[in-house]
Amino acid sequence: MDFTESPEQQMLRAAVRDVAESFGHAYYAERARSGEHTDELWDAIAGLGFLGVHLPERYGGGGAGMSELAIVCEELAAVGTPLLLILVSPAICAELIKHFGTDAQKTQFLTPMTAGRKMVFAITEPDAGSNSHNLATTATRDGDVYRLRGSKTFISGVEEADQMVVVTRTGADERTGRGRLSLFVVDTDAPGLQRTLIPTEIAAPERQWTLFFDDVEVPADRLLGDEGEGLRQVFVGLNPERIMSASICTGIGRYALDRAAQYACDREVWGTPIGRHQGIAHPLATAKIEVELARLMTAKAAWMHDHSDDAVAAGEAANMAKYSAAEAGLHALDAAIQTHGGNGLTTEYGLADLWGMVRLLKIAPVSREMVLNFVASQSLGLPKSY
Ligand SMILES: Cc1cc2nc3c(=O)[nH]c(=O)nc-3n(C[C@H](O)[C@H](O)[C@H](O)COP(=O)(O)OP(=O)(O)OC[C@H]3O[C@@H](n4cnc5c(N)ncnc54)[C@H](O)[C@@H]3O)c2cc1C
Repeated sequence: MDFTESPEQQMLRAAVRDVAESFGHAYYAERARSGEHTDELWDAIAGLGFLGVHLPERYGGGGAGMSELAIVCEELAAVGTPLLLILVSPAICAELIKHFGTDAQKTQFLTPMTAGRKMVFAITEPDAGSNSHNLATTATRDGDVYRLRGSKTFISGVEEADQMVVVTRTGADERTGRGRLSLFVVDTDAPGLQRTLIPTEIAAPERQWTLFFDDVEVPADRLLGDEGEGLRQVFVGLNPERIMSASICTGIGRYALDRAAQYACDREVWGTPIGRHQGIAHPLATAKIEVELARLMTAKAAWMHDHSDDAVAAGEAANMAKYSAAEAGLHALDAAIQTHGGNGLTTEYGLADLWGMVRLLKIAPVSREMVLNFVASQSLGLPKSY
């Protein structure tokens, strides 16, 4: 067991950090506040090949794996510039196409994605919520096309993307009545597709949308993988998404602790640095331990994803990483804000504006409770509650 990152991984980490620091948290916060995107940062990272670092070289990728994409994602967040769409574009969508796409689909979609074009992901529906078996958006075969009808909600970044992977119902299991799901790559400007902005209180450059599919025609060659196998297939992308969520949280945790440690050494109010008071030091030390433990589980999940023949073998570790990193990131950010006293809530100190992002990742892409359900039933063998 080797816990040391390879020289290539260390160089990747340093290179991502260099680029992210040249933008800095102030750039990110300003974009988030004004509702603009962080295109320059995204393009700079893509231009260096970092968004395709895990994809095959034949499609312009770096030929490495999820461990490397997690480094990219974490290091961006560790500078205070988290890029939420890494979760969906290179992590879920590219992984799904890499595993299940035809040669033509891989050439058509992976090559532009390594160059920075975006694809987003639509599974969540207003009524189904966490219960994907209840998805109601249908795809019905009609000659050379499928017709999509239904709605999706909380879909991130649609206005920035060329396509999205949509999870649809193409039938039902005769025995259980549960939906048989299928995945499609749908153009974001397809006729019949409407979107409505969801205002949120998360200070982030990414926007969320409710989508309506009003008889949207999708060519049959946009089916991804096998019809009816979508639920099994989708986890090949959802585990990387969990690993990336974890990486954003540990990155924000590191960002917050770096700032808090510096502040606790510099700030004196009783003739001694506040970091000497255990009331300040212990919460920061606790958070540091939690962040490092979450980083270990995240690295394990990424390693398992990269090294197992079974594409979903990382499920348990990815869920545990996502759970622990969200908790650790939140604790670290909260401890850092507390350390800063009133300054913790100011714009200048760049902490409180990240709360929405890290808090989101306790709910999405899979909620804390659904992770606990998974661990209870899959890891401990307890009876399922649903
Ligand atoms: C900012 C943002 C961006 C998002 N981006 C995307 C995206 O790009 N694509 C996409 O498809 N989705 C996206 N989502 C949706 C996200 O994945 C869901 O919000 C999340 O999975 C939870 O589903 P829900 O909101 O429907 O909650 P619900 O399923 O309604 O759950 C509500 C609460 O009940 C709990 N709960 C539900 N079932 C159980 C159970 N069996 N046991 C115990 N507790 C339970 C949940 O944990 C949660 O706390 C995004 C959401 C947000 C807020």
